[in-house]
Amino acid sequence: MEGRTPYQMALEQLNKCAKIMKLDPNVHEMLKYPKRVLTVNVPVRMDDGRIKVFTGYRSQHNDALGPFKGGVRYHPNVSVEEVMALSIWMTWKCSVAGIPLGGGKGGIICDPKKLSPGELERLSRGYFAAIRNIVGPDMDIPAPDVNTGGREMAWFLDEYNKYKGCNNPGVVTGKPLEIGGSLGRTEATGRGLSIVAREAARRLGIDFKKSDVAVQGFGNVGYYSAKFMQEFGCRIVALSDSKGGVYNPNGIDVEALLAYKQKSGKLSGFPGSKEVTNEEVLEVPCDILIPAALENQITKENAGRVKARLVLEGANGPTTPEADEMLFKRGIVVIPDILANAGGVSTSYFEWVQNGQNYYWTYDEVLQKLDKLMTAAFANVWESYKKYNVEMRMAAYICAIERVTAAMKVKGWC
Ligand code: NAD
Repeated sequence: MEGRTPYQMALEQLNKCAKIMKLDPNVHEMLKYPKRVLTVNVPVRMDDGRIKVFTGYRSQHNDALGPFKGGVRYHPNVSVEEVMALSIWMTWKCSVAGIPLGGGKGGIICDPKKLSPGELERLSRGYFAAIRNIVGPDMDIPAPDVNTGGREMAWFLDEYNKYKGCNNPGVVTGKPLEIGGSLGRTEATGRGLSIVAREAARRLGIDFKKSDVAVQGFGNVGYYSAKFMQEFGCRIVALSDSKGGVYNPNGIDVEALLAYKQKSGKLSGFPGSKEVTNEEVLEVPCDILIPAALENQITKENAGRVKARLVLEGANGPTTPEADEMLFKRGIVVIPDILANAGGVSTSYFEWVQNGQNYYWTYDEVLQKLDKLMTAAFANVWESYKKYNVEMRMAAYICAIERVTAAMKVKGWC
């Protein structure tokens, strides 16, 4: 599948699952296309007085399970095909997590590093004003993605409420706490991943509390995954960031490493550890490997050298299709991104629920609900995995497609 566009890849995956699960051809046909893709051209007054027009998109794939849900990214490489593919994957991710939301995604073709804060604000407000008629708490709920965060969500929310004449925080998630964000959202993806790891280890006969873990990436997902895995009793033996990593078979104290990185700006040189490259982190002896940095990290070149028994995809798309097949043949179980990192979108769902009831949960309540949700999601995929005897990735997609299909059928769509 390498060399194909993300949309072609999403279709290939759908076609493969459709065959295995003998999907109704009418459902299959409908799932190939987003229900709606909106293109907007947003004029922005630049700081020098000129008007520059930016193109943005919002793709709404499927809302059989509930309102569309998915982030908005700001990047020069955003394209309509990419946004469409990402909206398809969001349909599967929400469905596999068992949350009543559908799949959407948005993006603006821009380089945010070249825009001033004022230009970014005008662009964000302009984009949201342009898509305001197709988004809303009961329709489509955007969230942060690459190069967007709480600041952009606050602008989106403000713009929406201004136009609609309402005060409804549930139109976006990933908001700052002051305006309806949820406690626990920051650490949710890593927390969710550690819960899935616990469940997977239990099913695979891996002694979770005695397992050695290697993590590629020390950002939001990498750091919180490592932190919670350590709290669960695992030994973190390797960690890396963009500049390289560290390895210590006797274990690395994650909090001490974070403090060291904040002081020195790097991981290398951390007392008691050996320096390793980003690539080597993927190949160290361990039971559980967590690629939590970038896409396409485990490839056909290095898949043969992965020593872990279990791989959890913290990042989106870190394993190439060829590598996936190689790992499967070697008996290494890969928990796919749509399940392993679904803790983020699940807590976004919690944020939206809290906004709807205008009553907010404590941090512990959020974590408890997340544990319940992720445990159930894993159990469901595991059932599919056993039933169809396919890679865990296929099992997760099949689970997701089954739920969406059932909702489409009872709604009488096909
Ligand atoms: P982040 O920017 O916080 O962290 C990324 C980390 O990767 C940084 O530590 C960076 O130094 C490191 N890195 C960059 N290049 C590297 C390389 N070549 N080798 C090793 N490390 C490298 O990003 P994040 O939010 O942690 O997201 C990481 C991945 O997880 C992305 O694929 C993202 O789409 C996915 N994801 C994130 C969330 C979330 O809630 N943050 C949810 C689902 C999926």
